[in-house]
Amino acid sequence: MIRGWCPTAWRPMAAGDGLLVRVRPKLGRLTREQVTGLCEAAIAHGNGQIDATNRANLQIRGVDAWEPLIEKLCDLGLVDRDPVAEARRAILVAPDWRTGDDTHRIATELMQRLSELPDLPGKVGFAIDAGDTPVLHAAPADFRIERGADGDLILRAEGRETGARIAGGEVDALIGLAHWFVDTGGADVGRMARHDAVLPMIATIRPRAPITETAYQAGTAHGLPFGRIDAAALAAFMRTSGATAIRVTPWRTLIVEGGAPGVMLGREDSATVRVDACVGAPACPQASVATRDLAIRLAPHVVGRLHVSGCAKGCARSAPADVVLTGNAGRFDLGFVARAGDLPALAGLDAPAVLAHFGAA
Ligand code: SF4
Repeated sequence: MIRGWCPTAWRPMAAGDGLLVRVRPKLGRLTREQVTGLCEAAIAHGNGQIDATNRANLQIRGVDAWEPLIEKLCDLGLVDRDPVAEARRAILVAPDWRTGDDTHRIATELMQRLSELPDLPGKVGFAIDAGDTPVLHAAPADFRIERGADGDLILRAEGRETGARIAGGEVDALIGLAHWFVDTGGADVGRMARHDAVLPMIATIRPRAPITETAYQAGTAHGLPFGRIDAAALAAFMRTSGATAIRVTPWRTLIVEGGAPGVMLGREDSATVRVDACVGAPACPQASVATRDLAIRLAPHVVGRLHVSGCAKGCARSAPADVVLTGNAGRFDLGFVARAGDLPALAGLDAPAVLAHFGAA
């Protein structure tokens, strides 16, 4: 198991089905031209599928020709030609931002000041969640700007329930906290949530009660089962639907700007939209079990969120799920309201036993 490793476009990861290349769209948004180019690249150089991740990134798997792919992604403006800047641009934004609002303003400034950040561990990232109500509370991030209970913006370190009020200078504060994290040994610990050093700020403000966003002003949400979309289908959708851009959310949905009403891309109401499942075996060499076929069969029988993970790393979902199955030496561990790899309620189940347990056999 490789912990702390996070592939980027410049550091693709070797997986069982070829290289995995991760794209981080700026502000989580791609224009029609970028979407079309990305689809062409996934078809020409990958396995023709595009995956949306829980960090609102897009991944191309099965890549056999990385150099022409990276060139194309740079030309499209989806990857920074500077690998250091690309690695530092781990910025998750609340997807319903509007031009000029606090989320857009802060994320844009942070992107312009990436050179001021220290080198951070690969999984460490920022969440700019400055709308009226936090929506990214369950999405993975280490340093968060969000709305405090009294309506002011706060800076909150992951793992702490309260943050510090900031009035202007949000990016200065983020950069300062990132330097403090490194200076106090956080890089050795790996993630902010595990770093228990005393914060360099007075953090007493609770964030506003979060919501899970269900309606968007920016466009129409299209759910992607397992976060996967066929690149040819997405390209055809962009040609025919009138869509002008898409935004990627950390919830494996795409928000389509400007598309004709009623023209759907994914299956918004499918039970599988409530499911997180990584690619599992055989695509991932760390998986000892196949995941997605089991997840499809199980989904209609599970109440709440289902997470099927090929191993304890839990790539598909970092937050707890109502039901979690974790591959372990060719069998499944079963847990409830838990993360992949947490202490299970039942262990050593094969797939038929799992199905039988939920009445899905
Ligand atoms: S969680 Fe899934 S995709 Fe991630 S390393 Fe484990 S088996 Fe592979």
